[in-house]
Amino acid sequence: MEIPKNHPRYGSLKKREALLNFYDKGVVTVSGLISHGRGEAFDYLMGERSQAFSLNAEKAALEKLLKSERAVISVNGNVAALAGEEIVKLARRYGILVEANIFYWSRERIEKIVSYFRDLGMEILGLNQDANIPGLESNRGRCESRGIFSADTVVIPLEDGDRAEALKKMGKFIITIDLNPLSRTSRFGDITIVDDVERAFKNLNNLREPEYAGTLNAYENGKNTEMAIRFIGERMSSITNWPDL
Ligand code: ATP
Repeated sequence: MEIPKNHPRYGSLKKREALLNFYDKGVVTVSGLISHGRGEAFDYLMGERSQAFSLNAEKAALEKLLKSERAVISVNGNVAALAGEEIVKLARRYGILVEANIFYWSRERIEKIVSYFRDLGMEILGLNQDANIPGLESNRGRCESRGIFSADTVVIPLEDGDRAEALKKMGKFIITIDLNPLSRTSRFGDITIVDDVERAFKNLNNLREPEYAGTLNAYENGKNTEMAIRFIGERMSSITNWPDL
């Protein structure tokens, strides 16, 4: 479909198109498409751009990632479709591990995600799932012992709340990326990034050291997430005309 660049929903329509392409390739599931709808609704309320609370969390997250011994970025179908290229850029630049990890498990889909990253020039983990996250039934808990299982910090974009909780119970430092600041996943985050997944990884790639260095100590996740919730509430209650989108 040709989408004119000046269409007011250009960015949003391009994302949908990307997801549908990856759905056709068998990387994204029907349930992934539904999850995207929930995210889109929150993005609409956020003004479809990264806000101050997004950037605060992103700066602290980058500093934390660089201070971690073994950080892993977990990728599912939607994340691969929307932010694959940005993730490769970040992971390469800072030597961060990436692991394919999906909610609706199938060997075939894991292979497709791994091979998509290989096409982008990066080998990622996920094919040798030899460990289990305690507290989750076997398929949902599958992961690699040299990846998520032994990581000290895990980035979980678009994750489900049960897995976020189980990872937290393992003692991991959790960085979430979720447009819904009220989701269970967002609530389990040690750093809760309320932003679109593609924008979040773009911002992480664009941050320079003077912008993020020293932000982690002063960062307060509870307050920052509250800012996100308040922003959405205030924006809703102050809109009397059509919002500027
Ligand atoms: P939870 O179990 O954490 O409460 P949930 O059941 O609301 O999550 P899921 O369908 O499991 O949601 O996961 C999808 C989550 O991903 C939603 O919270 C949605 O806001 C978020 N999401 C969807 N698309 C994006 C996106 N492009 N960028 C960031 N977050 C997104």
